[in-house]
Amino acid sequence: MVNTPHVPERTCIGCRSKAPRAQLLRLALTDSGELTVDVRALMPGRGAWIHPDLDCVALAERRRAFGRALRMSGPPDVAPVRDWVNLHGTARSRARTPSPVGDGTTDSKGG
Ligand SMILES: [Zn+2]
Repeated sequence: MVNTPHVPERTCIGCRSKAPRAQLLRLALTDSGELTVDVRALMPGRGAWIHPDLDCVALAERRRAFGRALRMSGPPDVAPVRDWVNLHGTARSRARTPSPVGDGTTDSKGG
């Protein structure tokens, strides 16, 4: 009996393709209404999902998808998102194999 867990999918607001949450970055609004990266996807309220990829950030910006997805009144300042992607994102390096840094691939027996 194979019980495949259902992977919730989200749509990237940049390229509009669907991907599992784990592959996308959640964006949310701060209390003061500024766009921010919700790395742990724990912030309350409305969120938008995007690939951690500068291409998708640029696409979303062009389409004004941030404002639409997050119900913002004015044009968003996407600098925090771009900075984050610059530092942590995949930025055109999808072909590169990630180095085995023992990050989260623990096969724990806890439960
Ligand atoms: Zn995308």
